[in-house]
Amino acid sequence: MSASRDVGSPLRRALLICVGYAVVSALWVAASDRMLSLVVHSPEALTSIQTWKGLGFVLVTALFLFLLIYQQFRRYARMLAINQAQAESIHDLSQFRESIIDNASIWINVLDPQGRVLVWNKAAERISGYTRDEVLHSNSMWGLLFPDDEDRAHVLELAESIIRDGLDLNGFESRIQTKQGLLRAMSWNSRRFFTPEGEVAGAITIGQDLTEQRQMESLAHDSERQLKTLMDNLPGMTYRCLFDESWTMKFVSDGCRSLTGYSPDELINNRTVAFADLIDPADNEASTRAVEQAIGNAEPYALEYALTRRDGRRIWVWEKGRSVEVDGQLMLEGIILDISDRKALEEELARLATHDALTGLFNRREVERRLREELVRAERYKRPVAVLWIDLDHFKAVNDAHGHAGGDEVLRRLSEQLLDSVRAADIVGRYGGEEFVVILPEHDLPEARETAERLRSLVASQVIDINDHVEVSLSISVGVAVYPEHGQTVKTLCESADQAMYAAKQAGRNQVCAAHSAGDS
Ligand code: GH3
Ligand code: MG
Ligand code: MG
Repeated sequence: MSASRDVGSPLRRALLICVGYAVVSALWVAASDRMLSLVVHSPEALTSIQTWKGLGFVLVTALFLFLLIYQQFRRYARMLAINQAQAESIHDLSQFRESIIDNASIWINVLDPQGRVLVWNKAAERISGYTRDEVLHSNSMWGLLFPDDEDRAHVLELAESIIRDGLDLNGFESRIQTKQGLLRAMSWNSRRFFTPEGEVAGAITIGQDLTEQRQMESLAHDSERQLKTLMDNLPGMTYRCLFDESWTMKFVSDGCRSLTGYSPDELINNRTVAFADLIDPADNEASTRAVEQAIGNAEPYALEYALTRRDGRRIWVWEKGRSVEVDGQLMLEGIILDISDRKALEEELARLATHDALTGLFNRREVERRLREELVRAERYKRPVAVLWIDLDHFKAVNDAHGHAGGDEVLRRLSEQLLDSVRAADIVGRYGGEEFVVILPEHDLPEARETAERLRSLVASQVIDINDHVEVSLSISVGVAVYPEHGQTVKTLCESADQAMYAAKQAGRNQVCAAHSAGDS
């Protein structure tokens, strides 16, 4: 066995077996013939025995040969089957590898040590526009992809460093020119590889097309810049804040400087001041409730409140916003506008609707509305309400003497006098022209008469100083009517008071007259 193992080559093995067979056969023939000639003496018998011996030898050696060949053939068949299976799996593997490389979504190419293209996958074809037939087994790729001499020199230098020095290229970015003449931004990873013998076989390069990504980044950058410009130029300030006690600002636009007097840096993260500190506590509480409700209903919110600026000035603002989720955190985003002008206008309009423009007293409509309210209250609590109807005596003469503007000034001064001479709860209004009304809640007739008398004597005893120390003497006629005895509605009570005033005129002016009722003349 050890001899057969030593004998490596098939020729030597075959020779050994043949020589062995020849020696054994020759020895057997010679030895058996010699033995037979000693035992068998009859020549005929000897011939016959030798024939049978020869046939027996042939049979035994044939059997031996059969076993040997059969065994050998079986071994070959087994080896062939193994080889076949191996060949198939190698074929499958290389096809698999080729298809992976070919169908990869990223660019894969392989270069030989001279920089010629060995592999050029479909992604490389798609991105570059060049088919493998156009670039395979040549250096043409470099000139096609990098037409600029300087660019090409740089990438060739890198390729040489990879193959010669073993440089590992990671994320190197460059632009290539495609067959269609477009520029594409690429990121490259490349390293060299070796043959089984350890020699440098070339370099494998993987390229990633960053063009879309770069375009998106550039678009995002552009729109971010546009948004910032827009936000910085919007009236008021835009913000993003937390829904917490401080309304902690995470972003505010530049407009916060003119709105609040603080810079964005000072407001963000409550660095200098919390936004909540600029708002009145009551307003802040109402805002918190409104925002909370809007979040609950997934609706936007709109708020109006006063804000105290850094310089102490109070302004009115209008805020509109909504809740958003940023990285899993609830935040509020919106805009705040200064509406102080609008608010002042609104207040002025509201004042004009209820006040007389010349004197600042309540106007006729407001006097009637308030009197109606007082009558409801008086009825409910069984209390009296008195109305004084006041008309200036001979006012035409004042106008004639001092002009209409002088008359206006007199009306203003008289209004101030009336207002200063009654209680805070009393209501003083200008009913029209030079007629005034004073409502005295909870005054009965004697109390009302007393007040009317006080007013009459005050006006009569004082001179009104109008422009350039022109002195004007005045008197008033006053009619007094009291709920419930002289009237129970605005209309009847006013009519009673007006009639009483007319009676005062009739009685010679500068008089107080009560309305006519049972027991009173
Ligand atoms: P009497 O004592 O009878 O009331 O005499 P009078 O001159 O006051 O007469 P009357 O009340 O009828 O006239 C009111 C005058 O008041 C007429 C008008 O010229 C003047 N007047 C009414 N409204 C205004 C006003 O807004 N400004 C000025 N300057 N005068 C007014
Ligand atoms: Mg009048
Ligand atoms: Mg008058």
